[in-house]
Amino acid sequence: MSIKPPYSLSPSKVSTFTDCALAFRFSAIDLLPEPPSAPATKGTLVHAALERLFTRPPGERDLPTALTCLEQAFADLRTDPEYVLLGLDDDARDRFVADAEQLVRKYFELEDPSTINPIGLELKLEASIDNLRLRGIIDRLELDADGNLVVTDYKTGRVPSGLHENAKFGGVHFYAYLCEQLFGARPARVQLLYLAEPVAIITTPTEQSTRGLQRKVRAVWTAVETACDRDDFRPKPSKLCDWCAFQAYCPAFGGDPAAGRDAAEALRAERRSLVATAVAEAQGQSPLFAPH
Ligand code: SF4
Repeated sequence: MSIKPPYSLSPSKVSTFTDCALAFRFSAIDLLPEPPSAPATKGTLVHAALERLFTRPPGERDLPTALTCLEQAFADLRTDPEYVLLGLDDDARDRFVADAEQLVRKYFELEDPSTINPIGLELKLEASIDNLRLRGIIDRLELDADGNLVVTDYKTGRVPSGLHENAKFGGVHFYAYLCEQLFGARPARVQLLYLAEPVAIITTPTEQSTRGLQRKVRAVWTAVETACDRDDFRPKPSKLCDWCAFQAYCPAFGGDPAAGRDAAEALRAERRSLVATAVAEAQGQSPLFAPH
């Protein structure tokens, strides 16, 4: 029996399908909720702090201001479901905030934000290849000294091994393609700022890399359509299974995918109820953040 393919692809959906078709089905088609993740939520907090920093005039973009931005971002996050579902106690919350602060401090080892000329922050972009919609969010779009577009993506995890292979397909050229389609100019560079190391990985998109992106996205989309047509999404066990939220339903681990699909709606309802309770409780608390 065929199933309906998703409406669009994002860099993360492309890499999920490439890594494991079954995980893609659970996530993008069955919409199985994934448990909250402290590292991912920490990334959300750091992104929000840096977004706030770049709304300030260049002369104010220093470390004390960045820590104030982090404090404000955390005040907002404390009632966000993504955070409240983590259920952190006071000690864990303090460690969470301290880790985020460390990432913001390390950001300043990579660049001087007062020299950056941003023209877009957290930009949601959408473009087409044939009848396929591509969607992506660019953390920061800026102009360099020569007036060229530069795409910057903040990363709060470690640099993955084999990054240069992944980067060909894992978002970098995806962002470049979206910019080219929407702004009529290919970015002069795309930079991934890995804050934890800290290290900047910079690539220069070319006409060839854009053509390669189109070719590969078409190939992935054809494979997604075929998998949907045949309802054939196979597990592909790898090291990534250690972090996969869907192990309980994966045949490679003795699970049943149909049970996951059956549970999806109940899990979403349970998640909504937990969120409503946790947010109500969090809204009754006073701010406790104290950067140092
Ligand atoms: S546990 Fe591994 S093989 Fe199974 S769905 Fe997740 S990533 Fe795929």
